[in-house]
Amino acid sequence: MTELDTLLDSLLETARKLDAADPLAGFRDRFLEADGVSAYLDGNSLGRPLRATAVHLQDFVREQWGGRLIRGWDEQWLELPQRLGDQLGAAALGAAPGQCIVADSTTVLLYKLARAAVAARPGRTEILLDADNFPTDRYVMEGIAQECGLTLRWVQADYDGGVTAAAVAAAAGPQTALAVFSHVAYRSGFLADAGAITKVVHDAGGLVLWDLCHSAGAVPAELDAWGVDYATGCSYKYLNGGPGAPAWAYVATRHQETFAQPIQGWLGSADPFGMAQGYAPAPGIRRLVSGTPPVLGMLPLQDMVSLIAEAGIDAVRAKSVLLTEYALRAVDALLVPHGVVVASPRGAQRRGSHITIDHPAFKAITAELWKQGIIPDYRNPSGIRLGLSPLSTSFEETFTGVAAVQAELLRRR
Ligand SMILES: *Cc1c(COP(=O)(O)O)cnc(C)c1O
Repeated sequence: MTELDTLLDSLLETARKLDAADPLAGFRDRFLEADGVSAYLDGNSLGRPLRATAVHLQDFVREQWGGRLIRGWDEQWLELPQRLGDQLGAAALGAAPGQCIVADSTTVLLYKLARAAVAARPGRTEILLDADNFPTDRYVMEGIAQECGLTLRWVQADYDGGVTAAAVAAAAGPQTALAVFSHVAYRSGFLADAGAITKVVHDAGGLVLWDLCHSAGAVPAELDAWGVDYATGCSYKYLNGGPGAPAWAYVATRHQETFAQPIQGWLGSADPFGMAQGYAPAPGIRRLVSGTPPVLGMLPLQDMVSLIAEAGIDAVRAKSVLLTEYALRAVDALLVPHGVVVASPRGAQRRGSHITIDHPAFKAITAELWKQGIIPDYRNPSGIRLGLSPLSTSFEETFTGVAAVQAELLRRR
């Protein structure tokens, strides 16, 4: 055996031991398998479907939609956004009932929440955000700044890190209306100290909107305990809601009575079927709804929220930490000697459930890997993201993915 074979063997053996000791290993069978895919490392972009979802979607069409017809709205569909929001809040977000709702897309919810937040801080002139935040977050805030005559103030963050309380403290002040940050950075995977940053912004008199797209379902949140004002996140990443699944939003109870909904629609009004003149908002979180809820799109999310509740979000996080630690170990052993650079935090307490590695050849290599059924994703300028979705990813699969990247690098020497 060559030295490389020995190294590969030892990493594979470690992966198999970790799988054997993994209390959540059995949950992998709840997901549908994909033919020809030996490593799916992109659950942070699109989570896999649950087997139960395939059945529930068909049953829904036949029995609920087909059988109950229009009666379904009164029987349960109209309540679904709130009911599912409460379940998600309890299973993964640290949110007491009555503060979460499922609706729209993350982009639309970012607009609604941020627009309402700046309206709640009249006279303040700035929105704080970081230049490395996800494009849609930046673009929506640019639009709101233009619409409302506000200025964007950019908080600096390290390329392989993210937004810190100290950096926010240096930028926040009496001019701060709102701060918008990601809980886990989409590129570096940096896990922000949401509690500390929220406090810093509050001390300056501003409000905070957290984007949990890259953490919800993999990293526990404590929205209530952190004192968060508003939060949102998508449902198709670690929440396995499927392509284009509706997103969720959180509005702390204390802000709900004064929340200025910028897209006033009938189903967020106090009496949707009164058909009266003049908009009056519904009480509570329901005023965040604009139009008809996307019921079909919520069904897969409902299945995954139940699965997370069954597994327990703290157990999910514990496995996520072990997965990213193992991935870093494999990357250090197999890829770093070939010029690959780790662009994610080394400390698990500041890391989400994916890691990013950089190399100039990664764009071409990702395309090659996809043909082989090894599926990570690529992010500019030169990063492969290894997304490790705790309930559906195994350690051996993680090994397979990293070893395949190494094989491609060796082939190109
Ligand atoms: C994935 C992601 C989004 C996506 O927004 P959509 O409206 O669902 O397209 C937004 N923000 C962050 C941080 C993301 O990771």
